[in-house]
Amino acid sequence: MSPEIRRDYLLERYAIFAPSRGRRPSDFKVVSASEQDNSRCPFCPGKEDQTPMATYVLLEEDGKIKVTRDEEGKARVTGWLVRAFPNLYPAFSSELSQLTVPPEGVPVPESAYGYHEVLVESPIHNQHFWLAPERQTQLVLRAVLDRVESFSKDGKVRAIMPFRNHGREAGASLSHAHTQIVASSFVPPILAQEDQVFSSGRSLSSVASKEELSDRHIYSNDQYVAFASWAGVTPYSFMIVPRQQSPTPVGIDLKPLSDVLRKTLGALHDILNDPPFNLVWHISPLPWSEHPKFHWHIEVYPKLSIWAGYELGSGTYINVVTPESAAQYLKAAVEKGS
Ligand SMILES: [Zn+2]
Ligand SMILES: [Zn+2]
Repeated sequence: MSPEIRRDYLLERYAIFAPSRGRRPSDFKVVSASEQDNSRCPFCPGKEDQTPMATYVLLEEDGKIKVTRDEEGKARVTGWLVRAFPNLYPAFSSELSQLTVPPEGVPVPESAYGYHEVLVESPIHNQHFWLAPERQTQLVLRAVLDRVESFSKDGKVRAIMPFRNHGREAGASLSHAHTQIVASSFVPPILAQEDQVFSSGRSLSSVASKEELSDRHIYSNDQYVAFASWAGVTPYSFMIVPRQQSPTPVGIDLKPLSDVLRKTLGALHDILNDPPFNLVWHISPLPWSEHPKFHWHIEVYPKLSIWAGYELGSGTYINVVTPESAAQYLKAAVEKGS
């Protein structure tokens, strides 16, 4: 195949497919992104004092799931199933100090107002949410959406992005299973561009129904379609799109989402030996009622290549695996796993 350029479904972003030879998953030399050694892990049970106070805790009491949090002056809540707390090194903060005014002629920074939380997905160090028992996967999704809903009530917050860095190469500084959530008064440009495209009438529902019939299709259930992105910027990247358009996932039925995430991330894990990856939730800017056409979705970017000079300098990404080839392996692994 000779190299070809493809434009993203939504963004002014391009990928160049330059597969030099038929790259199979086994051609990527991947070291498993999970780490077994948890001796110094501050997210493991018993180390609650090593993190900031939990803002949200799920635990089981008398056979029922209960939401609680740590309280000032009291011992940290133990026996938790999911636990969220502010990131020790936040990118956004709701407690801002005065910014230093720069000399004249120098750009003036704005305060990075918002929240940056860590959500520990399980008391078990390596129990990543797609590999956990189904009930735990759903508890993690519930916790993520509860936190998203809670941040959405701060009138200064304009964008909320949950994301997952899996493995050191994908930016995870701690290996314990965790998701992060950033809520900011700033709307990141990718969300703003997607919002503009959705407002102009572009429909991800029609993209999803076409991709479902294409050779990029990976897996579908009655509510979601997963497919390798037509112009994916990393090898094996894919999208999970709800069939029904909505600006936000808050309030959805968790079971079908749990199903599609478990199947697709499980397949990625199986064919590439637990590769590092990033996962992001693209949710509408706030207030959601003013962005009725935004179509929330999830994007997954395996970390199998390095964005180097050409990528960083041009905003155009060279990808050595076509989405058609990636989908073929992922789809086969989903079918084998189920
Ligand atoms: Zn741990
Ligand atoms: Zn997106």
